[in-house]
Amino acid sequence: MLKTYSLKHRLNVREFLYAYIAILNSMIKDIWETIEWEEIPIKGKKQKRLIPHYKKDKVMKSILRDRYLENWEYANHWVDSALKTAYSILGSWKKNYIKGRRKRNYPVVKRPFARIKQTMMKLEGDKLRITIKPYEYLYIDLSKRYFKLGSRIGEPILTPTHIHLPVEVDINLCPEENKNIRLGWDSNKMSLDGFSPKTGWMVIDIKELHTAHIACDNKRRRINRIAAKKLKAGKRLKAKYSQREKNRIEQILHRITNKLSSMGSKHGFEDLDKKGMFKKSKKWNRELSSTDWKTIVKHMDYKSSVELVPPYNTSKDCSRCGCVNKDLNGVIFRCVNKECGLKINRQPNAAINIYLKMEGLSHDVGWFDENVVSGFTQTGAEWKETNELVRSLYDTMKPQFYGVL
Ligand SMILES: [Zn+2]
Repeated sequence: MLKTYSLKHRLNVREFLYAYIAILNSMIKDIWETIEWEEIPIKGKKQKRLIPHYKKDKVMKSILRDRYLENWEYANHWVDSALKTAYSILGSWKKNYIKGRRKRNYPVVKRPFARIKQTMMKLEGDKLRITIKPYEYLYIDLSKRYFKLGSRIGEPILTPTHIHLPVEVDINLCPEENKNIRLGWDSNKMSLDGFSPKTGWMVIDIKELHTAHIACDNKRRRINRIAAKKLKAGKRLKAKYSQREKNRIEQILHRITNKLSSMGSKHGFEDLDKKGMFKKSKKWNRELSSTDWKTIVKHMDYKSSVELVPPYNTSKDCSRCGCVNKDLNGVIFRCVNKECGLKINRQPNAAINIYLKMEGLSHDVGWFDENVVSGFTQTGAEWKETNELVRSLYDTMKPQFYGVL
């Protein structure tokens, strides 16, 4: 995972950066001039949409390259960097234009910056060497950095005052003793409930996430009332607070996923894309918002290893015998199969089902009794006989709680 850090520098690079954005802007204009506008009819309307197509083939690129290399006093690589940047700026302009967010004017870069390609830099101890002209280098002192230099550095951005350095962050949140633990996770509004045979039922408290969402909703409502009266001030407030909200929630989600990643090396979650069907069900009301869920899975993918499992019946299956109970009510799952008769808190029931799916195991009474029940004597309660399953299971699976905050 690359993370970008910014460091101040005191180098005199203004002149060079202005030269760089001058050719960059000029390249953008050159590419712009090759645009052919395709007319696309809009359904039910007389007007047509204009979709831009510009030249981006090898020939075009080499023509531009040669054109800008003439009279270019800095290293040739900067022309390549500018060319790449020009195309990426036009690419994002096009994307936004199609979404209706940009007008039909070519984008202009105003603030000086340059993208430093790998070929133009070299790390020499604590110094980053940048080639400005052939055999003429700039050195950026990284000794006062507050971050570790990982195994890989991405393409930094140089501005007149700063260097923005994308650094590979070596994430190793799972301690050695938990490396062989694999957990299945059920998501609920107030908690994430995990299960693995090695740890039993684990509960991560996520109430603060819920509280933060409520606080944000209240704030948003207040701001919307202001916006209804004072349009401009309201807009400003909205932008300011929505960013703050996002940051706060993002922070909480980072803490949650740091905790999750430290508990095991592999994590099973339900596949969100296949989950739309649950949206209107009771189950969904007890769950995390889908945005938070997406973020958690995304973070976990960076920080650990994730397996997505199909969500069908993860709450309805009996985690012991596999019988489906369609009639879910309350916090206790009751198995409808009289021979099994499992009674278990619905959260670990779902977590066990997710765990089984992650491991590719099918429901098996023997497996359950051996792995789910007998493994939990650490809480003090002993597993005795089958008919005691009902009474003792909750005790034997007494969850271990983890606050993350
Ligand atoms: Zn059962």
